[in-house]
Amino acid sequence: MSFQNPVFIPGPTNMPEDLRRACDMPTLDHRSPLFGEILHPALEGVAKVVGTKKGEVFVFPATGTAGWEVALTNTLSPGDKVLATRNGMFSHRWIDMCERHGLDVTVIRREWGEGIDAAAVEEALRADPAIKAVLATHNETATGVVSDIAAVRRAMDAAGSDALLFVDGVSSIASMPFHFDDWGVDVAITGSQKGFMLPPGLAITVFSAKAADAVEGAGLPRTFLDIRDMRKGYAAGGFPYTPPVGLLNGLNLSCRRLLDEGMKGVWARHHHIAEGVRAAVEAWGLELCAVSPELYSDTVSAIRTPEGFDANRLVAHAATRYGVAFGTGLGEVAGKVFRIGHLGSLTEPMALAGIATAEMAMRDLGLEVESGSGTAAAEEVYRGAGAPMAMAA
Ligand code: PLP
Repeated sequence: MSFQNPVFIPGPTNMPEDLRRACDMPTLDHRSPLFGEILHPALEGVAKVVGTKKGEVFVFPATGTAGWEVALTNTLSPGDKVLATRNGMFSHRWIDMCERHGLDVTVIRREWGEGIDAAAVEEALRADPAIKAVLATHNETATGVVSDIAAVRRAMDAAGSDALLFVDGVSSIASMPFHFDDWGVDVAITGSQKGFMLPPGLAITVFSAKAADAVEGAGLPRTFLDIRDMRKGYAAGGFPYTPPVGLLNGLNLSCRRLLDEGMKGVWARHHHIAEGVRAAVEAWGLELCAVSPELYSDTVSAIRTPEGFDANRLVAHAATRYGVAFGTGLGEVAGKVFRIGHLGSLTEPMALAGIATAEMAMRDLGLEVESGSGTAAAEEVYRGAGAPMAMAA
């Protein structure tokens, strides 16, 4: 079997060697004090990465999807009203999860490519003060759209709402600006396999005091994902069950790497790499799925292919001919977009390799893209920058 490396899917992302090795460790007694030496710095690191001094971090052996469920089941009861915006595949799936849990969901429908409309959130909250939670997907990985979470919080405050704010930061946290305390987030959710550059396997959640207080009154059933058991486990130096020690060791090191670089540096690096990709897209004469520049994601670009061209063919061709992985379009934009993931461990030369591969694949399949146009445009973005890219693979 051959491996695709680097990958340009929007997660799982490329793993730096030291992080990969940190996950691959000998068996350790998870009930010994040694485990606490891994766990507690990892939890503290996550808190710093998401920008909280007050929030409580809970990490489960699962993925981002379970993180959604952690938020819902620890705070809500069957029949509770929640408000959610649907603007892509991941917000859609989170809404589906709410419905399957018997929650009463008011859905604000947006075109795929649009962001969350804070004014619509405010209007819906004014219309229904009984809404208990607002769900916001910070970065819609399916469409490459980032939404303004501070604006959502302002809308909630303007409406006088007492609802909890749940934010899916699966493809934004540890890559794009995220301010848990300043934005007044109540539960943030992410996974290990994107900005943290680790294998999949950790659902990482952060709770505000208000969200954590809701747990006693929450009537939705939970056992494995109960934050109270997790909290008790942490206090005793462990998990309520067998923890994925290697992944947590990786998380500890990943946080150290990110914090050593500085979160502002991490965000700037992602923005810079993304700007090069966007310059290439423009030079190709193609358009992003995101409908306006303030929505452009710094972690993933969903690129529309010309009408009548199946974008999945391009992804398949790049994989079989060049051994390079791009993301396919999902749901409503399946076959209409391909996605270049540009998050995690990525340098300018790595990004150029991805851009060149996309360019070759498009030309192989007969799309009218000028040879070298995308790489030339990206090079101009990359050459000009002063700071070297710290996070090499
Ligand atoms: N939310 C977003 C924005 C995502 O991009 C993903 C996965 O790509 C998920 C949730 C689901 O996460 P997981 O696949 O780790 O369960």
